[in-house]
Amino acid sequence: MSGDSAGGERLLDPDEPPAFERVNPHGTARLLLVCDHASNRIPKRLAGLGLASERLDEHIAWDPGAAAVARGLAERLDAPLILGGYSRLVVDLNRPLESPELIPERSDGVAIPGNRNLDQAARERRLAALFWPYHQAIAAWLDAHSDPVPCLLALHSFTPQLDGARRPWHIGIAHGRDPRLAKRLLRGLAVHEDLVVGDNFPYAIEDSHDYTLTRHGERRRLPHAMVEIRQDGVETPTQIEAWVNRLASLYASVGTLEERH
Ligand SMILES: [Zn+2]
Repeated sequence: MSGDSAGGERLLDPDEPPAFERVNPHGTARLLLVCDHASNRIPKRLAGLGLASERLDEHIAWDPGAAAVARGLAERLDAPLILGGYSRLVVDLNRPLESPELIPERSDGVAIPGNRNLDQAARERRLAALFWPYHQAIAAWLDAHSDPVPCLLALHSFTPQLDGARRPWHIGIAHGRDPRLAKRLLRGLAVHEDLVVGDNFPYAIEDSHDYTLTRHGERRRLPHAMVEIRQDGVETPTQIEAWVNRLASLYASVGTLEERH
């Protein structure tokens, strides 16, 4: 039995932060920024999921640097931003409900003791406390700002090494079936000859693996893309500021998309 499987309990204590954070909600840009993996916080009741605390600083728990870049972009572009408030190890805000990675029992070779053999009630408690409120906040903003059609941009970071392999890209732009925004961002990034840019690398947007942009971007036919920055490029305030500057200029240069459905 897991520590959070008792029936009827709340996952979050009243003094804990909410499931998501809104930044600049009245920003004037026709753009919503989202950051699914912004935080490595674990609800107190889950007792760190049984992991050593240093594990929670690693990429398995969150996307280091992504929230700082997202906050900087929100300010620079005057765009609203919604950030997830808790670790992806509690419930991954960017996984479909049927994905084994939604509440992972292992991540990058690390066993997550607090996620082992969860019963349905415990799983649903995490969804109710964290997953649905975040996605409802995104949906509510998009419902209220449907005309003119906004863009949706998800900010992530990725680990420089995975399964022993070095990943060469400084940044990746991911898209699924709708490449409108991604292709424009990629064209804009091509002027940076010093950058290794991944076109759907290290990740693409896939139904089996993604939720936020398929659910909110593709279904609403919004121009959308995922920005993935390599984590060793967002470790210091100077590096973060450099990426904020590059991405703000890039987004401004692609502008608002004229061709719409
Ligand atoms: Zn991520």
